[in-house]
Amino acid sequence: MPKFTIRALLLASAALLAAPSLACAADKAVQAGKLFDGVKLRGPSTVVIRDDKVIAVEDGWTAPAGAEIIDLKTQTVLPGLIDAHVHIGAALPSKTNAIEYGVTHSDLDRAFDAALYARQMLLQGFTAARDLGGGPETAAVRDAIDGGKIAGPRLWIALEPLGPTAGHGDMRSGIDPALANPGWDNGLVDSPLEARLKVREHKRRGATVIKLMPSGGIASIGDDPRHQTMAQDEIEEAVRTAHGLGLKVAAHIYPAPAIETAVRAGIDSVEHGSFATPEALKLMKERGVYLVPTLTVYDVFYETASKHPELLPPGTAEKELANDLIPKKNFPQAVKAGVKIAYGTDLGEGDHTLEFDLLVQGGLTPTQALTAATGAAGDLIGDPSAGRLAPGSWADLVAVAGDPTADIGLMRKVAFVMKGGVVYKVGGVEVLAR
Ligand SMILES: [Zn+2]
Repeated sequence: MPKFTIRALLLASAALLAAPSLACAADKAVQAGKLFDGVKLRGPSTVVIRDDKVIAVEDGWTAPAGAEIIDLKTQTVLPGLIDAHVHIGAALPSKTNAIEYGVTHSDLDRAFDAALYARQMLLQGFTAARDLGGGPETAAVRDAIDGGKIAGPRLWIALEPLGPTAGHGDMRSGIDPALANPGWDNGLVDSPLEARLKVREHKRRGATVIKLMPSGGIASIGDDPRHQTMAQDEIEEAVRTAHGLGLKVAAHIYPAPAIETAVRAGIDSVEHGSFATPEALKLMKERGVYLVPTLTVYDVFYETASKHPELLPPGTAEKELANDLIPKKNFPQAVKAGVKIAYGTDLGEGDHTLEFDLLVQGGLTPTQALTAATGAAGDLIGDPSAGRLAPGSWADLVAVAGDPTADIGLMRKVAFVMKGGVVYKVGGVEVLAR
């Protein structure tokens, strides 16, 4: 157990909150039993923190003059975890009927949901995440987190996914055509020109990554996950415009031909990639494109489709049951092909640590699974300060008892969480820092 009191931490956190940039705020020295730095495991180490950044990582246990010591000598310290595919405002599908939920909740309601799920994610150890499909509420929650008003991970957000009429992102599919919501058009793209405009609009509205829907999906009415639904010129124009604005592009894709089209167009990550063939995986490997396999969400939806199909939109339980076991079966092919893997669950509410076990069951070593959720995910997000513990990194770190490179199951029990130098969890207990 750490040798400090929660009261001392509260005082330290309050001092930081009151004067976050004052030079007199004490440096912190986190003494780690072992240290996973985002790439490899090291022995006893000390991470020295000033304000919200790491300024040094030293071998052994050191105590810089004047620094507050945080004793994690019995634990393994890792960079704060990154979930590269979340929907921060999404409730678990097993809780309520999805259509009922959609038409009885406003963006404001979703923002409060998202604030709750964001805090839960942070306490599970996730100090950063990429939200690949939300709306105004995700931008508001991201800004509230950045402004120190609520607790949550650093968020990169995509707003509404861009895709065609009748595609996976078309909210009108399968519902009464007379119903309307201005937000339902925010992601619709039916020409290269519209793709260019929508990317620019999303940038203006606060998007920091662009999400495309080149193929059909599962949890939507009427479309088929085996079809490429977005035209090649729409994908190409969206990618060109996004990259020109410094935004990365994540693409939800199932079938192999659509994966190959989108990879050739220059996307940065394939989300799901469930029906990838060895040829498609080879192309991804050659182009350095990440796969975010999101194995967790298939388990979650499979469970709901099996036990509570009435909670899913009409016709989707059948799609779930027909397709949801395929990704787990196919994932070892991606591992074998040597494709870069980043960690992503596709969850909002729920346990974001579930993916670790699934990645290891699919063939990653525990160290590779940890890299997927730290160094690799930081690389995919495009923030070299995230997912690593090195001078200049964010002071985002977590700790678990024991050695997760030997037993990945330990990642289910993150005991210590710090984000930006502020402690949120100690000894498995939340610290009310703000
Ligand atoms: Zn998703």
